[in-house]
Amino acid sequence: MRRRPDKASHSRYLRPAPALCLTVRAPDSFCGGRTIASTGPDQAIMTQVNEKISTRVEGDIGFIRSDNPPVNALGQAVRSGVVEALDRLNADPAVKAIVLHCEGRTFFAGADITEFNKPRVPPTLQEMILAIENSPKPVVAAVHGTALGGGFETALGCPFRVAVPSARMGLPEINLGLFAGGGGTQRLPRIIGPEKALEFVLSGKPVGAAQALALGILDAVEDGAPDAIGAAFARRVIDEKLPAVAVSRRDDRIAATRADPSAFDALAAKLTARSKGQEAPAANVAAVRRSFTLPFDEAMAIDAEANRALMAGSQSRALRHLFFAEREAARIPGLPKDARARDVASAAIIGAGTMGGGIAMCFAGAGIPVVIVDTTQEALDRGMERVRANYATSVKRGSISQEQVDKRLALITPATDRAAVADADLVIEAVFEDMAVKKEIFSDLEKRVKPGTVLASNTSALDVDEIAAALDRPEDFVGMHFFSPANVMKLLEVVQAAKSSPEAILTAMAVGRKIGKVPVWSGNCDGFIGNRMVAKRSAQAERLLQRGAFPPQVDAALTKLGFPMGPLTTNDMSGLDIGYAIRKRRGTPFPIADAIVESGQLGQKTGSGYYRYEPGDRTPRPNPDTDALIVATSAKLGIERREMSEGEMVERLLFPLINEGARIVEAGIALRPSDVDLVWINGYGWPRHLGGPMFHADETGLAHIVARLREFAADTPDDPSLEPAPLLVELAAKGQGFSEWQKSRAAA
Ligand code: NAD
Repeated sequence: MRRRPDKASHSRYLRPAPALCLTVRAPDSFCGGRTIASTGPDQAIMTQVNEKISTRVEGDIGFIRSDNPPVNALGQAVRSGVVEALDRLNADPAVKAIVLHCEGRTFFAGADITEFNKPRVPPTLQEMILAIENSPKPVVAAVHGTALGGGFETALGCPFRVAVPSARMGLPEINLGLFAGGGGTQRLPRIIGPEKALEFVLSGKPVGAAQALALGILDAVEDGAPDAIGAAFARRVIDEKLPAVAVSRRDDRIAATRADPSAFDALAAKLTARSKGQEAPAANVAAVRRSFTLPFDEAMAIDAEANRALMAGSQSRALRHLFFAEREAARIPGLPKDARARDVASAAIIGAGTMGGGIAMCFAGAGIPVVIVDTTQEALDRGMERVRANYATSVKRGSISQEQVDKRLALITPATDRAAVADADLVIEAVFEDMAVKKEIFSDLEKRVKPGTVLASNTSALDVDEIAAALDRPEDFVGMHFFSPANVMKLLEVVQAAKSSPEAILTAMAVGRKIGKVPVWSGNCDGFIGNRMVAKRSAQAERLLQRGAFPPQVDAALTKLGFPMGPLTTNDMSGLDIGYAIRKRRGTPFPIADAIVESGQLGQKTGSGYYRYEPGDRTPRPNPDTDALIVATSAKLGIERREMSEGEMVERLLFPLINEGARIVEAGIALRPSDVDLVWINGYGWPRHLGGPMFHADETGLAHIVARLREFAADTPDDPSLEPAPLLVELAAKGQGFSEWQKSRAAA
């Protein structure tokens, strides 16, 4: 039930306190004992506990206020200040209840990241929360902004929690391969029950105040200044002698009696079914489970140990690496300081095919009006039908409401006349992969758009400099390479052509983020970052088939690592004719893949390829015809087929693409190794907990990779790309990894 303080008591606290303009003496530990002035005329005496924390008393309510911009991170000064403030207010006989609130844009947003990897200075977060929880006078947390991780755990340590309607709160630790270490996995289940707590921690997503109230996390949601709504609730706590809703850690029986272990285990199995190979989900389950099987202190001790082990492990390291990689990718060194992204208030897409429709959905999803142009009404209708079908699937799945779909569809304007692009701030071309067609489109578009409109191509493999050559204003042109399905895949490679201006690049990066993508800068080369690397894996998948493996074995080698799909299943899904056409153009035959296409099998769309498919069912099944063809091709090539271990297949599939990644970063096609990792995580299904190919290379050890590549190069003399890249060899010789190389270059 939504508990609201009654209007009368609320308004008492919204009324300004009597004007007080006193001078208070700061404690000796702060300002060297100097006397400092109090705050403005409408507030009670404010005493600085230290530079971040102050207290004040209004009637019988004490306030602890944190002012630690920008996000009230829980650094040492905040923690020690809160503990000290609690002591003072508890010692003040006038105070009957305490409100904990923050100044600025948010309640405690989380830990202080500048303290990571440094020796801990007490009090720890756990000690501060314990002090709050053990306070003889009840504490009301008044939450606004975003209370995440330690910030949310601080609120959980308070016996009462209220929030403003816009507040959000959550425990995102699982996203970093951990669980909430400040008691979140013990206190939350005691407050809302273990099953709801389990869903909460496994999702890692913050919830809004209304949902938190419904879950039983909050005692009230009120509009107003945080200290005012906290005070209004404290009034009720005092006057109505409200019992703490938060189940105290001192009463473990309550958690145990509220739990249904078999229902909990069934839910845990369901929620973790898709997190094969990941340590953190299982660790979160185990931690929440301890909330009803062990006394609080024992569970906390085991939690601490378990979290330390996760923190030291490769998976959490990988996830933390990606957290920083995403922030770093937005930085493009070398651009003029005053260069700015241009505003994109409306967009246009040329080509309503597979990609064009998906890209239009991304803009509509971000509330940006978008025109979509195709040559014929028929092509346009087909494209819009596909868009509607995609939305219908999402509605069916419950990920979006019909009302939202209607709003988004209203933002997409189909047109057959290119004149419709006239007002767009950004035009993205997604027509056939044909240089002549693209050149004609861009030279025509340039005449139709406003000055400053950014023109972008979604080409996967054409030379962006050659496209730009068709333009009078090549500085406004960039590559924006989306991935299929464009409405789902997060990756966006922003490809810099030789003459792209800093503003055009920044605009593409900024709009990419706005439409929910992870934009990664790429230099211009055949395949850019991702497809250039994936080509090396495809070549090895073909070799594995020639040497003795069958498609299910090749795919299983990677799906067992956590890839959602193996490379051959992926090829069947995209259509085998695409790669065939590229190989023909480049003159690089793959004997088995080519033979499959030449036998009329193009993958899912023809019901067979590397695998066989039943009508209307995308499940890949072994294809005896293809297997026979594979064996025959090996014989024709004079290769004696042999058994291969899974470990060997993994190395043969992954090391050559890592090798190409090394060449790419060395040549400056990617700005940094961590950008390459983002490309693979967001565009090619590399499992997040494995951190991406360059991170994985560091974890594996570059010396081992170099040694294996030399063996592969020796047994495959017709593929010189298997020779280890100079950068790989150099770093391996120094005993270093890509992350050290990245750090040393960033520092230079
Ligand atoms: P598609 O064949 O599905 O769609 C192309 C659309 O462009 C068709 O609707 C066609 O009618 C339209 N078109 C052709 N000429 C046109 C013109 N002159 N003016 C307006 N519209 C025109 O192709 P797709 O798979 O969407 O690929 C489009 C582009 O995106 C290609 O450059 C491709 O390389 C690139 N791309 C594709 C993928 C993918 O997986 N499909 C991934 C990344 C990038």
